[in-house]
Amino acid sequence: MKKKGFALITLVLLLTLSACGRAAVQNTLDFFAMDTIMTFSAYADKSLLEGARDIVADIESRASTTLESSEVYALNRDGGGTVSAETAALLDTALTMCRATDGAFDVSIYPVVRAWGFTTGEYRVPSFDETAALLEHVDYARIRLDGRDVTFPDGMEIDLGGVAKGYAGREAAAYLREHGVTSGLLNLGGNVQTVGSKPDGSPWRVAIRDPDNEQSYAGVVEIRDKAAVTSGGYERYFEEDGETYWHIMNPATGRPARNGVVSATVVADDGALCDALSTALFVMGAEKAERFWRSYGGFDMILITDEGETIVTPGLSYTPADSAAYTLRTLEP
Ligand code: AMP
Ligand code: MG
Repeated sequence: MKKKGFALITLVLLLTLSACGRAAVQNTLDFFAMDTIMTFSAYADKSLLEGARDIVADIESRASTTLESSEVYALNRDGGGTVSAETAALLDTALTMCRATDGAFDVSIYPVVRAWGFTTGEYRVPSFDETAALLEHVDYARIRLDGRDVTFPDGMEIDLGGVAKGYAGREAAAYLREHGVTSGLLNLGGNVQTVGSKPDGSPWRVAIRDPDNEQSYAGVVEIRDKAAVTSGGYERYFEEDGETYWHIMNPATGRPARNGVVSATVVADDGALCDALSTALFVMGAEKAERFWRSYGGFDMILITDEGETIVTPGLSYTPADSAAYTLRTLEP
């Protein structure tokens, strides 16, 4: 009897130790990647956070449009080529989202983004003729991905900037989970990817920036083991003659998307889907986005409009900030 009691205590002790995962303390790693500061924080050994960072760096080194050694750079230079399995998987994910959103998300938008100066910071407003001519080269449907072989027509160039961060967050989180991590918060410059919940089991609280006030937040969404990704016009923009032009383009017009949504947040299990959809919903505008949400499903969203409304789907736990002056509207299930 006594012996059994001892064995039981030992077992409980072991379980408690292993339940702590790799580390009983929270470690944090800050680094610069994909044009932004990233902060990875988890109840995990620092070496695991470094492993997660390396995954992000690897994806960036393959998918960057500007790094001359990247696979995407070579594709754009050569009009196609054979890529690594990793890059093929990322491109496949991106093309799936192009099709799902009927081109509101379009990875072939790069020539347009460049014409507006968003790739270099030398901003300019191209003429309607110029953007119309560039749109001739924009059509994801003409990109062929056959295993690891990629081809697209002359003049076309691809840009995975609207999906790469979310994809990287997803892959980094998968790596941490594989290594037994059950509590982590990965911030990829506004793209948030969580692993599990807080150590006490409560959800992570993710603040959504107030698009009207960069010092403040519009509200807080509570998530567990999911990603929350926001696309906002305030992230990168320039002003000319009293007009604001931002980096999210409408592939139908070749000009910054202006359909009334100023911030689009998507919450779902898959960070890559969140990233592509946040860009796409920003392009669609609120009405189309709601229709898309009803037909496509599998995600939640928070849209902030230029009319001062915050539209949220009913599956979310979202609390508006007291300071933010938006009217909250929760969609019917
Ligand atoms: P995000 O911040 O995720 O919304 O992505 C914006 C980035 O994606 C831009 O900086 C462009 O590089 C690219 N982009 C802009 N508009 C689109 C679009 N309609 N579809 C796909 N990528 C886009
Ligand atoms: Mg995006």
